[in-house]
Amino acid sequence: VALPVSLDEAVSVADARPDATLIAGGTDLMPRINAGRLLPSSLLCLAGVPDLRAVWPSEDEIVLGAGLTFAELMDRQVAALLPALAQAARTLGTPQVRGQATIGGNLATGAPDGDALPVLVALGAEVVCRSVRGWRQVPVLDLYDRAGGARLEPGELITSVRVPVTGGMQSFLKITSSGGAGRAVVSVSLVIDLERRTVSCALGNTAPVVQRCDHAGHWLAAQVDWEASAIPDPRTYETFARLVAESAADRPAGQGGAHGTWWADADYQRRAVEVCARRALVRALPPVGWLEQVRRYQGQAEFQRNMRRVLGPDAASPTPLEPAPPLPPAGARMPARTDGVG
Ligand SMILES: Cc1cc2nc3c(=O)[nH]c(=O)nc-3n(C[C@H](O)[C@H](O)[C@H](O)COP(=O)(O)OP(=O)(O)OC[C@H]3O[C@@H](n4cnc5c(N)ncnc54)[C@H](O)[C@@H]3O)c2cc1C
Repeated sequence: VALPVSLDEAVSVADARPDATLIAGGTDLMPRINAGRLLPSSLLCLAGVPDLRAVWPSEDEIVLGAGLTFAELMDRQVAALLPALAQAARTLGTPQVRGQATIGGNLATGAPDGDALPVLVALGAEVVCRSVRGWRQVPVLDLYDRAGGARLEPGELITSVRVPVTGGMQSFLKITSSGGAGRAVVSVSLVIDLERRTVSCALGNTAPVVQRCDHAGHWLAAQVDWEASAIPDPRTYETFARLVAESAADRPAGQGGAHGTWWADADYQRRAVEVCARRALVRALPPVGWLEQVRRYQGQAEFQRNMRRVLGPDAASPTPLEPAPPLPPAGARMPARTDGVG
């Protein structure tokens, strides 16, 4: 086991021992070693290389060291500039896994259900690699072959990822088989750049490699009223969600691809993508009146909590909550309230 303490040293060891397997957090590698599916002759551990754990923010981009853990990506500084990445980090594994798993390991593994991948693709990030031959920088999707394998040269490490800072809304949503934490059955990342007036959307685990939904993005960009940062036609939400779902690849259900990720059947996948895409857009550019309704609902919920505290849990609620959470109805504009509330 080699334990380099600088990037130069790590690169020279990787060059001298091309058979050595890189290990960062070990959350992907160790289960394979423990199960006997992988028996590396030697390991090159990247955990002690400080350069891989740095964050370099600048005006128009943020550079994230490959050794940053997902727990660190939830940090306030990163979350403020890259909220979708912080959202993805929050949903990855358990707190123990997030404390070890690195963004570089997620990229190098290249599993299509890797949570960082659709976000980085939607944000237009580039991966920076280094070997003794020098530096190489590629857009995230160009790192992978058609089967989803990372095209890293022998002795090459991922050192960082350069992420443009966009002026607008970002989100990441995923659906897991358990309904809670877990690997994504599908995931959607949406990035709306209000300055450049662009929309970018990417899907996780709908194909062996993360998919971009350029058609849906271009279509949505033409529907947005960029001056008002609003969507004038309420039917846009449904149509956008349908276009995103239509971009998802058709492939057999069950365990598939080089990474053996779990693939839902086509109908479920289409529906799941549609739901995520619509919710992502609602969060980014809410329909007229929706935020007011959410605030009113939250006000009622808080009032009920306080009443229960005073009257006890069994007391009848004086203002029953609306049964459904305040999501905008499909294809309809929220009715404007006329009673001055909200
Ligand atoms: C219980 C559990 C739950 C999980 N849940 C999720 C989840 O919800 N979402 C998700 O996306 N993942 C999940 N994972 C998978 C895993 O945590 C992630 O893929 C993680 O990002 C891997 O990072 P790591 O640092 O642990 O990689 P490691 O296990 O150290 O390495 C993984 C691979 O990447 C290579 N590698 C690592 N760093 C570099 C580098 N800098 N340059 C080149 N190659 C490198 C290694 O050689 C190895 O092949 C889960 C894992 C476990 C065990």
